[in-house]
Parts: sequence; structure tokens; C-alpha cells
Amino acid sequence: MKREAVLFEDLGGKKVRCHVCQRRCTIPEGKTGWCATRVNDKGILYSSIYGEVSSLSVNPIEKKPVFHFYPGSSWLSLGSVGCNFRCPGCQNWEIAHWQEGPMDTQFLSPEGLVSKAKAAGCMGISWTFNEPTLWFEYTLHGAKLAKAQGLYTNYVTNGFLTEDAFREISLFLDVYRVDIKAFSDRAYQKIGQIQEFKGILEVTEKAKKFGMHVEVVTNVIPGFNDDVTELRGIASWIRNHLGPDTPWHVTSFYPHHKLSHLPPTPLSDIEKGWSIGKEEGLWYVYVGNLPGHKNENTYCHSCGELLVDRYIFEVIQNKLENGRCPKCKTLIPGKFREG
Ligand code: SF4
Repeated sequence: MKREAVLFEDLGGKKVRCHVCQRRCTIPEGKTGWCATRVNDKGILYSSIYGEVSSLSVNPIEKKPVFHFYPGSSWLSLGSVGCNFRCPGCQNWEIAHWQEGPMDTQFLSPEGLVSKAKAAGCMGISWTFNEPTLWFEYTLHGAKLAKAQGLYTNYVTNGFLTEDAFREISLFLDVYRVDIKAFSDRAYQKIGQIQEFKGILEVTEKAKKFGMHVEVVTNVIPGFNDDVTELRGIASWIRNHLGPDTPWHVTSFYPHHKLSHLPPTPLSDIEKGWSIGKEEGLWYVYVGNLPGHKNENTYCHSCGELLVDRYIFEVIQNKLENGRCPKCKTLIPGKFREG
């Protein structure tokens, strides 16, 4: 559904500039922005994907992955089409790389979304599968309603939204699950086709400062961001700017889309990333896409006790007591329900 956009600027002559993501596209009349989901119609910018849902499912929050916010809880996950990145190995490229033409979507109003989440017994709503920033207006309305109905809210994002967009949505967002894909402009140019990444770090830092629950994911792609300098840069930045209590997920890449010719990330590289995170002083470093690996589990950062035992996205056991380690009684960062 077409709906007037927020956060755009009239440049005169029926030209507009979009201020939702850091591309800040200048869009002449009759044209769309880089992501193709925003169109300038007679000098007014419109979102063409408002409420257009391409995928919707109920998942455990582990699937995002988010490990320190009510482990094992069910969330309604949904996405639309389009993205402001063009990651060559995108797992969701069929929807995320939509450019034009018919959308394979169904309309769901923000009210309908919240009703569905409640009827399914979900703890919250995750905007995921494609970049949530692109259907900013819909996520804003949905998040507002969700909060009013006692639900939690989560963005699974590449973090490339503007500070203006972040400030608006931040009032209604509990969890900020952000990808930090690399730690150099060169790697970001190859992975996401953006020129510089410092704005992603700046907005992520704001999320933490604003009191959101933040978890970071780095999907390690052979030849793109598997260099020790990239991984150490991310880990030390997390420690210095988000704090050592911020979970970092180092996940394995599976060959996909335009990177189908690459091998999966070697186990040794994921374990190297994990070790770098620990060396840099992060308390909670996880491996991802490695079923049965011991570092899918949560261990107390103080005494090493096993706290949450996981297998893929399933919580096998949650031993926390009132958010504390049952052995040494240390308070564990995040929000937890007793096992
Ligand atoms: S959301 Fe980003 S890519 Fe899309 S029109 Fe706006 S600035 Fe451009």
C-alpha cells in the first residue's frame, strides 16, 4: 500500500531528499530512491511497501539471533521487500533485492499485526527478513501500537538508518539487533555497496545509550571480512563503545546467491573470531550456524557456570535464577525468565 513517507525534505522543483537511511537519496519527480521502495509522486515522497508483508512466522528469539532477552520466548517475525544494501551472499535476496514489478506480498495493517502477535501468544514483534528501515512508517506505527498493548519490539537491522529515523523509532523499540559486517570501508563497499560505515557505529552507540537491548552479529564470509584486523576491530569497538556486556554473535556463512561458489566459513575461522572476542574482553561471544557447538550456550562471565543450554534455536535448559547465576549469584546482563 502506498503511504506518504515521513522524514523527507522538499528540495524545490518537485525534487525531494529521503532522510530515512544514510544513502539520503535525492529523488526527482516520478523516480524512486536507491531501494526502489520510495517514490516521488509530484514532489511528495511515498513508501510503496506500507503494510506489504512478504514473510511472517512465529519464531523463538534465538533465531534472530538474540540470546539475552527472554531466551526461548516466541516472537512474531515479519518482513517486506527491498533493501538499502546489496549483499552478494544475502540469504533473503529473493525479497531483499526486490527492485520493481509485482510484489509477492499481503497487506497487514499495524492493528492486524498486533492482534496476530497477541493471538499467537508472542512476547513481541521482530521486524526482520528485509531491512526494517525501508518500511519505516509501518514499523513506527506497528511498534507504537505494540508497546501500547504490552508487547516488546525488535529491529533486526543493518544499522544504516539515519539518526533522525533512529530517534523516532527509538521511543518504541526495545531490542536493537544490529549487523556489524566488517570494520573497514573497503569491506563494507564489497559486502553492502555502501561507501562508509562509521554512521552504522554512531547509531548503534546511540541505541546502547538510549537503553535498548543491543546484540551484534557478524557473519564471517571467506575473503570478505574474515581478516583478523576486521574481526578485532569489531570486537574492540564493541568493548569500548557498547561495553563488554554486549553479546557478539560470530556466525558461519553458507554459500548463497552470488557467493554460491565460495566455501562455507571454516570452523577454525569462526572459532578464531570467538577467541578474538574473548581476548578483547567481551563477556558473551557466541558462534552461530554451528549446531551443537558449545559456544551456542551462555556461560556466566564471572564463574563460567553453564546458564543457558541451547541447540540451534532451542533452549534446552535455562538455569538462571532471577537473572542471576545460580552458582556465584552474579547478575547476568539482559532480561531473563527463570528456567
Ligand atoms: S530509504 Fe535509503 S535507499 Fe531508500 S530512498 Fe530513502 S535514502 Fe534512498
